[in-house]
Amino acid sequence: MVGEKADYKLILAAILLFSGLGGAVKIVGGILYGSRALFVDALTSIANFVSIIATVYYYRKSLLPPDLDHHYGHHRLGFGGAFTTIMAYSFAAGLSVWELSSIEPYKVSPIAPFYAFLGFIFYAIAIFLSKRAGEYFAPYAVFTVSELIESVTVIAASFLGSVYYYLIDYAGAVVIVGYLFYELYDIARDFIKVMSDIAPEPSLIKNIRREIEEIGLKVISIRLRMIRRGYYQGDIVIRVDPSMSVEEAHRVADEVERRLKEKYNVDVIVHVEPCVSMRS
Ligand SMILES: [Zn+2]
Repeated sequence: MVGEKADYKLILAAILLFSGLGGAVKIVGGILYGSRALFVDALTSIANFVSIIATVYYYRKSLLPPDLDHHYGHHRLGFGGAFTTIMAYSFAAGLSVWELSSIEPYKVSPIAPFYAFLGFIFYAIAIFLSKRAGEYFAPYAVFTVSELIESVTVIAASFLGSVYYYLIDYAGAVVIVGYLFYELYDIARDFIKVMSDIAPEPSLIKNIRREIEEIGLKVISIRLRMIRRGYYQGDIVIRVDPSMSVEEAHRVADEVERRLKEKYNVDVIVHVEPCVSMRS
């Protein structure tokens, strides 16, 4: 276990190093060699760097057990990563629009595409490492692939911009900013959805209902809300024979809670009602 932890820290450090390097060469290339496409791409790289730090930080926080100030656990602290990502990319998007707001002619140095290419190599290494690091980094790897696509766009745009016409480089920058806004829209929409106490798929409710009915209980209502992906909390109302002792009803409720937790990773409070029609 100790070795696993050390490995994880080493891989994380390597991912941060290479994505940091990727961002750094893009900034230097964008500022020194006049490519606006590269400069805008560099801003998204910085946002990407901030995002991964925040994502790892809040993911670890979200795993903490319940305590005095978080009675239900810390699951939703995990959204801190997505929230920070939205803020960082929004900042980069605003700055990019400002950068592109003046269209005076400029000159792109032929060295700019080489810096873009260097950035591409560093990001490719970071993604390669994050794919090897297991499912924990899978979302980051997917997300960072867009950095590669941006890099390719910048290599082409800055090269053509230096050889032919600066406006080709400018157009590349506009494409990247456009894509940035699309990404922001996508992340923000998903963020609002997962934050909205959304109910699970109807099939999960169906399975849970069947599971309870198999124990021989009558289900009156099931209410579930997503706390984070794959984990739900809620309450379930069941009816039992009114002659049942409090002790027995309590045992039944416990049994339902335990089964649902084990099988579906669902935390529920079970409310027991006496079934009037069972009386006769
Ligand atoms: Zn707490």
